[in-house]
Amino acid sequence: MSVIDDIKDRIDIVDLVGETVKLKKSGRTYTGFCPFHSNTRTPSFVVWPESGTWKCFGACNTGGDVFTYLMKRDGLEFREALELLAARAGVELPRRDVPQEAAEKSDRLREAASAAAQWFNHLLKNNPQAQAARDHLRTRGISDATVEKFQLGYALDDWHALQSYLALPGKGFTVDEMVDAGLIVKRDDGSAFDRFRNRLMIPIHDWKGRPIGFGARALKDGDEPKYLNSPQTELFDKSKTLYGLHIAKNAIRESGQAVIVEGYLDAITAHQAGFANVVASLGTALTEMQFKQLQKLAKRFILALDADTAGVNAMQRGYFVPERDEMVPIFNPSGLIRFEGKLKLDIRVLALPEGEDPDDVIRSEPQKWVEMVEQAKPVMDYVIDVLSAGRSLGTPKEKTALLDEVGPFIIDIADSVERAAYEQHLARMLKVPERAVTEHLSKFAARSKRGHIAKSTEPSSPATLDRERYCLVELLRAPHALQAIDEALARFDLPPFDAEDFENAAHREAFRALRTALSDTTRPTRDDVLDRLDPSLHADVQTWLDAPPAKPPIDPRLDETRGGVDAALLLRERNLKTQGAQIEELIRSASEEDDADSIRELSQAKRSLSDQLKRLSRIRYAPEWIRQSHSSGS
Ligand SMILES: [Zn+2]
Repeated sequence: MSVIDDIKDRIDIVDLVGETVKLKKSGRTYTGFCPFHSNTRTPSFVVWPESGTWKCFGACNTGGDVFTYLMKRDGLEFREALELLAARAGVELPRRDVPQEAAEKSDRLREAASAAAQWFNHLLKNNPQAQAARDHLRTRGISDATVEKFQLGYALDDWHALQSYLALPGKGFTVDEMVDAGLIVKRDDGSAFDRFRNRLMIPIHDWKGRPIGFGARALKDGDEPKYLNSPQTELFDKSKTLYGLHIAKNAIRESGQAVIVEGYLDAITAHQAGFANVVASLGTALTEMQFKQLQKLAKRFILALDADTAGVNAMQRGYFVPERDEMVPIFNPSGLIRFEGKLKLDIRVLALPEGEDPDDVIRSEPQKWVEMVEQAKPVMDYVIDVLSAGRSLGTPKEKTALLDEVGPFIIDIADSVERAAYEQHLARMLKVPERAVTEHLSKFAARSKRGHIAKSTEPSSPATLDRERYCLVELLRAPHALQAIDEALARFDLPPFDAEDFENAAHREAFRALRTALSDTTRPTRDDVLDRLDPSLHADVQTWLDAPPAKPPIDPRLDETRGGVDAALLLRERNLKTQGAQIEELIRSASEEDDADSIRELSQAKRSLSDQLKRLSRIRYAPEWIRQSHSSGS
């Protein structure tokens, strides 16, 4: 039995959920008000003690087991939930040598980054070479106290200064450690040189305030690039880091909002002026990981953007560029609108007037900055403003052109009421009937790769676990099948295959790792996937691969070579069917209690489910997937 199963066996889900939710027993299940969405009328939250699973049939439409429950309730990562539940269950997590070594190694890298930051800070304050850096800070009005607070520094104009310093007795960092911390660069011939030379050094800290990387500003005209960042290292992951978060986190929590600026020095100036809830992006598009971190502190985010960044060009490119691409623009409204829906956030845009940046505004007119933050617009409003600016919307051609440009953004809005409100707004603005707008935009919906429909879970039975495992093994063997699955689902306007299609927490984690590996590399190997998976699950995955479960029954009419694709579609189909059965059960008990509201809500959910099931069977029996015995001559 794996540790995960062992823990699940020993944790009573009714106890765990009962800590925050008042549960009422009804038959074999317990019901209550969902703790994850505001509801007071209909108890739509169900717990199955036998299988150790839960599900919300209301607004969240999500579910899982004890792990996913705790992760969602307390905003934890899988590893954190695992450790908490292991302690609670009295199960000892296996200590592994490899992660421990890795932990020691990252401690070492952290010490190197920290030593470098301290030394840079000392040089800025004391070294004659740092005069230009000090002058630069003075012209920007940055005080000595701020230099200390943000631990600003200076890197000498020398190819080996830092390397020699960190190698001193008492420090004793090896070349490899310095390379791995992103501080020096190794040439092919084995020689190495300092990455940062003659630059103003801005240490980037993790949320606990430990230096993990650097932003470095050039001080001499012609030194390119103007800003040089640490490379991606074991410590420093740009997609998960925001500049200044360790200092801003309390103010963000207290004010309920975070202001995100583009430049490090903009953030520093803001803090000096007393705007303490400001963080800076790291020069890349904001990622889901970054928002997920911020989401634990606040729900509203204000993006303060330069006129150039926020401009129409960036916006139109942003729509087409995949998020992982290096060339991704900082401002990607389409991505933001999706994050809003997915993470239930309120993201607003503060576009600065041409030629101004936050730094100037904050220093010369702090009151104006306050007003600009207050008046920031929802992303969609901002997109509509920019796209309609300078257009004469009197002619039918111009009206259509605007709808064509706005359409791709509108369909990304997850909430149907909000979507309808924008359609109304556009209809009024263009002076056309609302129906015409809706019709025109529906062609984008058909192209959309995202549906916004229920995910599923069901009480785990051995057969369920086997099916999930079979699907995972198939996908681990041929990860690119996932793309075919998503394309097929999208074609029928069904949501992409998702971690929530798996009920078991370990399976979900493995699937997430697979997804991440797929977006990082084109042809991920098994090791690529394991690298992205919590070490406590490695042995499990190995077991699944070594002893894969038997193939679930597959319709003989279907082409059997599709392996992963069919296993995934089967899993989705099974999920939808089980959910349907669960809802029927709930409808029955609701009608026994004469609860008309519940019955209405549940019946609607049921209709949506059967609609999805219909579309799903159209995919499974699409002509290209029916076995064509005459086509391949073997
Ligand atoms: Zn809910």
